[in-house]
Amino acid sequence: MIKVTSVLHDSIGEGIGLVPGTELISVGGRELEDFLDWEFLTADEEFTLVYRQPGDSSEYEVEVERPVEEQIGVAVEPPRIRRCANRCDFCFVEGNPDGLRDVLSIRDDDYRLSFRYGNFATLTNLKQHDTDRIIEYRLSPLYVSVHATDPVVRRWVLRNPQAAEILPQLRHFADHGIQFHTQIVMAPGINDGEVLRQTLRDLYDFGPDVLSVSVVPVGLTEFSKHHLIREPDDVECKRAVAAVEEAAARALAERGEPWAYGADELYLRAKVELPPAELYGSFDQVENGVGSVRWLQEQVREGAEELRGWTGRRIAVVTGTSMGPLMPMVLGPLSEATGATFELLQVENDLFGPRVTTAGLLPGHAMRDALQGLQGFDLALLPGECVNDDGLFIDSLSVAALSADVPMPVRVSKTFVDALMEPLAA
Ligand code: SF4
Repeated sequence: MIKVTSVLHDSIGEGIGLVPGTELISVGGRELEDFLDWEFLTADEEFTLVYRQPGDSSEYEVEVERPVEEQIGVAVEPPRIRRCANRCDFCFVEGNPDGLRDVLSIRDDDYRLSFRYGNFATLTNLKQHDTDRIIEYRLSPLYVSVHATDPVVRRWVLRNPQAAEILPQLRHFADHGIQFHTQIVMAPGINDGEVLRQTLRDLYDFGPDVLSVSVVPVGLTEFSKHHLIREPDDVECKRAVAAVEEAAARALAERGEPWAYGADELYLRAKVELPPAELYGSFDQVENGVGSVRWLQEQVREGAEELRGWTGRRIAVVTGTSMGPLMPMVLGPLSEATGATFELLQVENDLFGPRVTTAGLLPGHAMRDALQGLQGFDLALLPGECVNDDGLFIDSLSVAALSADVPMPVRVSKTFVDALMEPLAA
């Protein structure tokens, strides 16, 4: 059973009488477990729905006719998060300080969120039922954390002796039409060097169903298990960049696309210049920090003509310390396009510790403190990736609360262009 959370006005759902709180029990005689069942089982033009209304224990059955071009207009509750079966030494949740939002203390590893939102999953907690659903609903592409194709190394990385071998698992899905974006979180002395090269070779030889692979350097917090794992140094990152670029050159020559990508962070730590935009393919892993800078430059180039009314404005741009050195590559063209002055504010993470440098994990209070003392700014832009759907930062401070405490208007931005389309009021 799943609950309805909202119903669109004038929709099929409203016509049936569904309301927030309605319990959707079955479609076509099949019980509903989560949003996947709802979306896939209601894809037919006709189906039988059984449901219960709030405060009424009776079950109602209705024949629904849904013309192909019409949506049902019903949103359902998010699924209960699937717990992870692993214990990676670099696990972000293990490295969390106390007092964060509850959802951040749960180790989730969920193929459904992998399909829907591009969250990476290891597939180590799949039951037969889950495997069957992935195949039946053709959940493709999936985003898979491979880390290493050698089963012994992978089990070590995941700290899970039960983890199934990844290549046969992927093969089973690929035989049923599923494709994958994959990632390797690279930890020195564990899955770098020859292990990394072998993993890249295995994934390439797997064939075109592995759509892409990214290599991301492991990132730790002050609270991580530093006696068990460490971050790679510049030399180790440089070697990983070389392995990625070798794989990318081969893929480009043989398949016409780069296929293998290093995270921006990998290049930054290696002190190697980022590849040009065309070597990031269609930016499939940009949400994973892969090609973010080149992608932002593209966004600015494409949106530049529409940005009006910013000449002479002074704008503070908040970011984490990792993107700091790369950000001028984006802000320079943005300044040319708008006539505004952009001043970078690199904020240190005082919640997870200074070694956590990504903007996505910046606590709201640290940004507020950094902005509070600034004078003469017309606007402050905050990184969009550090705010959840409810407008909360990782420390549960809201964007509205932060805005009320700082001396300039604040906008949250993912591409800069998105936040600058509307000029400030005169
Ligand atoms: S797969 Fe590893 S890093 Fe991800 S949630 Fe599980 S233990 Fe943590």
